[in-house]
Amino acid sequence: MADIIALLPDHVANQIAAGEVVQRPASVVKELLENAIDAQATSITLVVKDAGKTLIQVTDNGIGMSTTDARLCFERHATSKIKKADDLFNLHTKGFRGEALASIAAIAHVQLKTKTEGAEIGTTISIEGSEVKEQEPAVVATGTTISVKNLFYNIPARRNFLKSNPVETRHIIDEFHRVALAHPQIEFVMHHNGSPVFNLPASNARQRIVNIFGGKTNEKLVPVSEETEIVKVSGFVLKPQYSKKSRGEQFFFVNDRFIKSPYLHHAVSSAFEGLLKQGTHPGYFLFLEVASQSIDINIHPTKTEIKFDDEHSIYAMLRATVKHSLGQFSVAPVLDFNK
Ligand code: ADP
Ligand code: MG
Repeated sequence: MADIIALLPDHVANQIAAGEVVQRPASVVKELLENAIDAQATSITLVVKDAGKTLIQVTDNGIGMSTTDARLCFERHATSKIKKADDLFNLHTKGFRGEALASIAAIAHVQLKTKTEGAEIGTTISIEGSEVKEQEPAVVATGTTISVKNLFYNIPARRNFLKSNPVETRHIIDEFHRVALAHPQIEFVMHHNGSPVFNLPASNARQRIVNIFGGKTNEKLVPVSEETEIVKVSGFVLKPQYSKKSRGEQFFFVNDRFIKSPYLHHAVSSAFEGLLKQGTHPGYFLFLEVASQSIDINIHPTKTEIKFDDEHSIYAMLRATVKHSLGQFSVAPVLDFNK
């Protein structure tokens, strides 16, 4: 029998990978915001049109890219963040897979403008369906702007599968919230269809929560703070009387990364036992810090699930700490804005 196996061309492989990484416009928003953070930006602006279906643009004032890197960053497995497999267990960046930009460039019209601090002149590059259309020198500020237009233009099935603009916008705002909450020390701005949506100055965790969810949130917050050998917990839970029927504000961050964890959610919920009205859910903004060697982030392409070495101890500690904090607030409500 003749040989029938062939290696897929890059643009096809990229399009397949894109299926995992890019589910909807919000996935692009997440990847671009995370890249800006990894580039050490102190100010990040997100511009969206038509719920991200026609434009998603992220501008940062980070380290930028050289002319060669501006081309390389769209190759699959091209990353500046890890060099060897061991680095996966000592991660200090959001990214490491080196496939977000390659995936996005396979299924959208992408333009990148970037300049590094020392360089006199920057570069601009346009990519369509994984193919470089042009690259030219450009006069731009230090940092990077990536514009992603016409997402899924070459995958009609995915494009048609997108939800209504309000639903897709909701997903984008959820991602924006998660990233902005994880990094209160960075300024974040968001515009949608030409109107400002968020303008979040650099601040601290409490103020960032208040800036996003409104001034009334401040008095609802109960601080949580505890440290053991394996985990440091900080952040806030909402006072029990502000629990909601819908699953409202529930955020876990592990080493500044938003994660979903039904298991840890259960730890927090059970700490609220006896304090919640029937059928309501507690709100929380909890930041966990653990040794980077004690977690595995590489278990899902979107990196929102992680595996802890010592899940049980973290569960027990989280439950006890939240319980303790709830017990204290009724005695001395804390309204200190600087904490
Ligand atoms: P990863 O983030 O996993 O490394 P990406 O495909 O998201 O993979 O990005 C590829 C590379 O492009 C990054 O490793 C980084 O070197 C570079 N890069 C991407 N976005 C930016 C940015 N906003 N500023 C500077 N460099 C960037
Ligand atoms: Mg990335």
